[in-house]
Amino acid sequence: MEEVIYLDGEFVAKGDAKISVFDHGLLYGDGVFEGIRLYEKNIFRFEQHLDRLWSSARSIMLDIPMSREEMIEATCETCRRNGLTNGYIRLVVTRGVGDLGLAPWICKKPSVFIIAAGIQLYPKELYENGLQIVTAATRRIAPDTFSARVKSLNYLNNIMAKINAQNAGAPEALLLNREGYVVEATADNVFLIKDGMITTPPTYIGALRGITRDAAIDIARHQGYTVREEPFALYEVYDADEMFLTGTAAEVISVVKVDGRTIGNGKPGPITNKLLQEFRAITATDGTKI
Ligand code: PMP
Repeated sequence: MEEVIYLDGEFVAKGDAKISVFDHGLLYGDGVFEGIRLYEKNIFRFEQHLDRLWSSARSIMLDIPMSREEMIEATCETCRRNGLTNGYIRLVVTRGVGDLGLAPWICKKPSVFIIAAGIQLYPKELYENGLQIVTAATRRIAPDTFSARVKSLNYLNNIMAKINAQNAGAPEALLLNREGYVVEATADNVFLIKDGMITTPPTYIGALRGITRDAAIDIARHQGYTVREEPFALYEVYDADEMFLTGTAAEVISVVKVDGRTIGNGKPGPITNKLLQEFRAITATDGTKI
């Protein structure tokens, strides 16, 4: 069965799902998106993803040309039409068709498309053994240039860091801000554990407020751990007992080496494992039914 894509009010075959070369989403990365998981026909934290999508759009003065209810229905229907039980959903809103100038007000109608498909996860061994990552030479965009809290279609900053990772033979890289504080990874948020205390950078230093990050904080607090949102530098990373990343695709994944330094004892730690277990238990049952 060919995949079916939602595109501007219609369901079209994957091969027919096309966008104009004059769409400013393509010409300038002008648009916003969400990456969401479907687990056992439940869309995980869908309301939070929609909140973030609308906040991203508002901050770039982009009017999403449909209501939240219409977006929910279109998303669920895209999952149903593709016969999905588990998968990954991509919601995209572009500025729409304009001319070759930057002016977004020339673009009369934003485009919305929704892809619901299977997902390529990190292999099981990486969850069992942990990731070995590096620090990227590329700095995260500063909040006074463009807010990393906007999940925009311009991911070149992250892609440059991803290239840094690839060149170092690593699956992920840490991004620092201009002050040298650790902000996040290329597509994941970052957490450290030291003496039982869990710390993640506050989003105001330049990180995306990840939906999985929020879920991990909720789970950890529910399990009785203290979670702080506080900036830290590489010193704290190298000195951590445990470290993990969170993201829609990665879920909760341990980091055991950074820049050649072993984190803790070099194996995924007990607190990280407990969080991952509970995260998987919650995703299997929680969420918006399609
Ligand atoms: N940071 C960045 C830069 C991201 O692109 C993402 C999304 N993959 C995340 C963090 C994690 O966010 P979420 O948990 O909402 O997927």
